[in-house]
Amino acid sequence: MTQSHGWAAQSASTPLAPLKFTRRELHDHDVLVNIEFCGVCHSDIHSVRNEWGNAVYPMVPGHEIVGRVAAVGNGVTRFRPGDLVGVGVIVDSCRTCASCKAGEEQYCEVGATLTYGAADRYGDLTQGGYSNNIVVDDHFVHTISPKLSPAGVAPLLCAGITTYSPLRHWRVGPNRKVGVVGLGGLGHMALKFAHAFGAHVVQFTTSESKIDDAKRLGADEVVLSRDPTAMQKQAASFDFIIDTVSAPHDINPYLEALKRDATYVQVGLPDQPPIINMGNLIFRRRNLSGSIIGGMAETQQMLDYCAEKNIVADVEVIPIQRINEAFERVVKADVKYRFVIDMASLDRA
Ligand code: NAP
Ligand code: ZN
Ligand code: ZN
Repeated sequence: MTQSHGWAAQSASTPLAPLKFTRRELHDHDVLVNIEFCGVCHSDIHSVRNEWGNAVYPMVPGHEIVGRVAAVGNGVTRFRPGDLVGVGVIVDSCRTCASCKAGEEQYCEVGATLTYGAADRYGDLTQGGYSNNIVVDDHFVHTISPKLSPAGVAPLLCAGITTYSPLRHWRVGPNRKVGVVGLGGLGHMALKFAHAFGAHVVQFTTSESKIDDAKRLGADEVVLSRDPTAMQKQAASFDFIIDTVSAPHDINPYLEALKRDATYVQVGLPDQPPIINMGNLIFRRRNLSGSIIGGMAETQQMLDYCAEKNIVADVEVIPIQRINEAFERVVKADVKYRFVIDMASLDRA
């Protein structure tokens, strides 16, 4: 067994605290990664607090992992000890269903294995990246360019791919008016990518304090979403809108902002469903869709694109000892724009 230690939740209502646990010995295709940085995704908070109703404890959260390969199984050829690598939201899938064969492992028809809080194929409970190391099948390990700051890269493994994938799928680019709803971890990556792809980008935010940042990050316009007059001015003008909001909110004003045949894609996953005025879909034949992370090949493509264009997340690096306070700040939308844990802090008193 591989000895591991990290910070875990023991229930939905207790703060994260240190935990020692074990991970499996390396199988032929496994990679042992010593974790250097792990991003703090709002999904970690939804999961730890059992807001989606499927939590299993103890739970070591974390699925925006960057680290160095420490050892590899006999069948691994893509990685060697010392390589800088990344691990994201899933660590396994069936590899044989139509989605897996199409390189869309995140839509595996048997169910992809989440990086934490899931049973893996050996019957063990997976544990995530708020820890010193992780054992992952090499198909789910990505190469990270040493050109980029590893702390800034960590959020690309979830926030990055979750926004990159739908923007690519719906062909966001020049001459397209694109909206980003919510300027948090996912939102600021959506903004950076949509801008880099050449779209005209409008950032919707509830936070006046983020207006200047939104412009610096690439927004052509910023709209305060709680101002009904400002919202009405956007009516029927968008080709595509991506919603990254973590809390229940009214999506009808955004549906009204779409043109005929345009698409609203939901990536934020609040714990309560929205109420939709069907007229907003029927008139103008609008589409309401959703998207989850991206496939393994697309994740590598996104990481390579970021290395080429020098794109990373804007991060606030924290020691693990400040994780519970960081969770509270994320819930209050008070993070610019992603907390990333420096795992060297794990061994501090
Ligand atoms: P985050 O950093 O907390 O950002 C969420 C943003 O939503 C906030 O910064 C805030 O932006 C806005 N917001 C928060 N409360 C709001 C409210 N009551 N009304 C309106 N706007 C509000 O979270 P994140 O890590 O980006 O994650 C966002 C969501 O995506 C979470 O639900 C997460 O679980 C989900 N997620 C989904 C996937 C996927 O594959 N589909 C992957 C990762 C995460 P402003 O201050 O600008 O208003
Ligand atoms: Zn995430
Ligand atoms: Zn599959």
